[in-house]
Amino acid sequence: MNKISCLIAMTGLVAVTVVAEVPAKNERQPEQKNIDGYTNTPMQPCGKWHVHDPNRPQPKVAKPKYDGKPVKAPKDAKVLFDGSNLDQFTNKGWKIGDDGGMTAAKGGQKSVEKFGDMYLHFEWMVPAGLKGFGQKQGNSGVFLMDRYEIQVLNCWANRTYPDGMTGALYGQTPPLVNACRPAGEWQSYDIHFKAPVFKEGKLVSSAYVTVYLNNVLVQDNTEYRGATAWRRLPKYKPHEATAQFSLQYHGNPVRYRNIWVAPLKLKLGK
Ligand code: MG
Repeated sequence: MNKISCLIAMTGLVAVTVVAEVPAKNERQPEQKNIDGYTNTPMQPCGKWHVHDPNRPQPKVAKPKYDGKPVKAPKDAKVLFDGSNLDQFTNKGWKIGDDGGMTAAKGGQKSVEKFGDMYLHFEWMVPAGLKGFGQKQGNSGVFLMDRYEIQVLNCWANRTYPDGMTGALYGQTPPLVNACRPAGEWQSYDIHFKAPVFKEGKLVSSAYVTVYLNNVLVQDNTEYRGATAWRRLPKYKPHEATAQFSLQYHGNPVRYRNIWVAPLKLKLGK
């Protein structure tokens, strides 16, 4: 839980202001009657909401600032996927389309190379026309170090529990705002990740992440409270200093393109 969310949780005045800015109903998708989620799960540390709580306030909508075009990699970046081959990924079963995107398929996807601190850029698209609401709208995600997820989901005309929406540290911290573009359009993620540090089997410093979704800040030096978990509180388990990152396959043909990594330049952490 970052400081802003905690403050919102603990100060009634701030909470009222934020809630007032959220549309009373989902104007983009009036057919959606309910928000999926759970209220029989453990409480989040702020003590106000359960893990995956559908009643947690929805982040307000912000205008995306990304035009859907491939973003050129900076000079110090290493391109891992440019649409020509899967050499830098382990699962060769994902199909590459004519538009340079690969489609999520059985087995998930993992980078060949292992990373610690990193700046990761990629573009993604949830295909239009998927049936159902909530987590059924193209659930995928990137697991930094194969453990720490940033969620991928169509959240344009679709609502779900806020700690499971696009831009969330899944199961932990919702995004500051909902800056999604519609399904069927490319969206960009710029993820600045500081790996956790363990010493002699103990956590010395947590993982932190700053995330831009479609060039809008959605996570600001947010602390991971442990590895991503479903319906449980997160927990740290010591692991190596570098690890592969993975792209989740959750049964939906979510697409990825233009994946590159660069050195972490932001100062993250406490
Ligand atoms: Mg996911």
